[in-house]
Amino acid sequence: MSVKDTICAIATGMGGSGIGIIRVSGENAISISDGIFRGKKRISEMDTYTAAFGSIIDKSQDDRVVDEAVVLVMKAPHSYTTEDTVEFDCHGNAFLLQKVIGLLVAEGARIAEPGEFTKRAYLGGRIDMTEAEAVMDVINAEGNAALSASVMQLRGGLKNKITALREKIIYDTAYIESAIDDPENYSLDGFDEGLHENILGIMEEIRDLLNTCDEGRIIREGIRTAIVGKPNVGKSSILNMILEEERAIVTSVEGTTRDTLEEYVRLEGILLRLIDTAGIRDTADVVERIGVEKARDNIDKADLVLFIVDGARELDKNDEDIISCFSGKTVITLINKEDLEMVIDRERLEALLTENGCIPRILTVSAAENTGRRELGRLISELFIHGEAHYNDQIIISNARHKEALTDALRSLEAVEKSISEGLPEDFYTIDMMAAYESLGLIIGETLEDDLADKIFAEFCMGK
Ligand code: GDP
Repeated sequence: MSVKDTICAIATGMGGSGIGIIRVSGENAISISDGIFRGKKRISEMDTYTAAFGSIIDKSQDDRVVDEAVVLVMKAPHSYTTEDTVEFDCHGNAFLLQKVIGLLVAEGARIAEPGEFTKRAYLGGRIDMTEAEAVMDVINAEGNAALSASVMQLRGGLKNKITALREKIIYDTAYIESAIDDPENYSLDGFDEGLHENILGIMEEIRDLLNTCDEGRIIREGIRTAIVGKPNVGKSSILNMILEEERAIVTSVEGTTRDTLEEYVRLEGILLRLIDTAGIRDTADVVERIGVEKARDNIDKADLVLFIVDGARELDKNDEDIISCFSGKTVITLINKEDLEMVIDRERLEALLTENGCIPRILTVSAAENTGRRELGRLISELFIHGEAHYNDQIIISNARHKEALTDALRSLEAVEKSISEGLPEDFYTIDMMAAYESLGLIIGETLEDDLADKIFAEFCMGK
């Protein structure tokens, strides 16, 4: 598989949409496309960034017209892939689009691997690794918040941040190397104090980035949500209220054990990943058998706890037992059955929640009358998207590879910090500094030696 091949693919979804776009990219994109297209001009005669109307024809069947299409030409290097690119806007019929792909293959194109257009954009230097991954994340994004985190990454937020951190490391490293080679012109006297401070500052910034990993997971994979409450308060009714009105249930998968079932649901644009809905759907005595232990387990795993109480009954020991597991958790309490006469002592409920270490956020709902769903969605949205966990303008690490690289960089810098504290000679820690530099470089797909050479050359005039 060569990067010189010309690749083609259907760029739009296969669900019957009005138009379907086929993209062709590579050295022979234009000549291959010419082979299947008849317009006023040949594609090879068109200027870059111009469009023309014409017919897609099948040469093997006496130039039979397969479809009418608009063709768009983008010549290298000013295209997404940096290669010659041709786009056909055809009619959005899956069968027809496949047929056009077949014609392109007959002319010498190859069907693109998943992500190959973006890979070429990366190889062509059009985007860096973080941006390439962000493109994948945009394509795969589940929900609005995930999308905006990816878009942020795409705009280069993470790249800029990582680049700035690397700059600092490389500057100090280059200085040390220069001083070791050329002690007459570069002095290391008093250098360690400044370096120590810089290293601590960089470590702090890396830790901040690492702290966003959880948030990254939440918005990509959904908020892990446990619905808890004693039997008969209406857990399964509320689950159904959340699920049934929602057409956009993403998927239901078998959990690791037979009896757990995870379901995904979108509420006000936020993806919830519901924990152990099977437990909730079981009959009441099974729930009773599972008991508080199981609830505690689910609470531990959850990012968000939906605690259901029955507004038509007094609070009792069962409710209190459950509340006692809430410490440190984000809990939303739903007082259910508001269609009945409310007897619950709301003040006592608030006091119990506060005593057990959680902020009382209470909504009154009725699963029977389907009220409160929207308020619940809004509250979750406030808590996780706009509120305490604030994602919108922040760079979020949502990618396991980035997390690993950041963790490695942090470890190397800890070693540097230790060496400085122990008063070891400078050439001792340049190795760890370069290791940190390299780890960070993995995030944006850059290499090591060239940069150091450039830096030493540009800023420290070696070999003068
Ligand atoms: P779970 O054991 O906590 O899952 O509770 P269920 O969802 O099975 O509900 C227990 C009982 O309460 C059922 O008879 C439901 O019909 C009833 N129920 C649930 N929600 C409401 C509600 O909002 N109003 C009224 N009046 N009854 C409800």
